[in-house]
Amino acid sequence: MSIGQVPWNKGKRGKFSDAALEKLRQAATGRPAWNKGVSDNLTHKRCSKCGVDQPIDNFYRKKKGAPLRVPQCKTCQKKLNDEWRASEHGREMIRKQFRERYKNKTDEYIEKATRRALQKPAETKAAGRARYALKIGLIKQKPCERCGNEKAEKHHPDYEQPLKVEFLCRSCHMKEHLRR
Ligand SMILES: [Zn+2]
Ligand SMILES: [Zn+2]
Ligand SMILES: [Zn+2]
Repeated sequence: MSIGQVPWNKGKRGKFSDAALEKLRQAATGRPAWNKGVSDNLTHKRCSKCGVDQPIDNFYRKKKGAPLRVPQCKTCQKKLNDEWRASEHGREMIRKQFRERYKNKTDEYIEKATRRALQKPAETKAAGRARYALKIGLIKQKPCERCGNEKAEKHHPDYEQPLKVEFLCRSCHMKEHLRR
């Protein structure tokens, strides 16, 4: 296949589409992009992030079973993943994935929530009011009051006082409930 036959992507950026580029690469090398110019017998590789020469098994494969490894070592890759997850874009992507995954499970969710509400009416009522109070700014989200973890849930020492809320992370919250 020649370049002339590659479909031009008339998108906003006026570039080749990924699919078209992939076809070009395959036409040029006879191999898919992720397998381009890589030998299977590499034993060491230098990490593009930390620059340390390391055994090849410290690098994730680009695809399952593919010889090509990612440029960063596993430690650096994990760090990159964490950064991505914390970034605005990453969080939006994760939210999107979550919505996609649970789109069809609404009935199950409603059932579960209903069951919970019936089992623990006082807790559910207080939680709902606290959620609303947080939404309209009556109470402010805080980090865990025991350990400082940024991710904290609302805990009610007294369900009769829905606006009296303690912020506890998951693990401190569990401990608090086990204690009682
Ligand atoms: Zn590294
Ligand atoms: Zn905590
Ligand atoms: Zn609680």
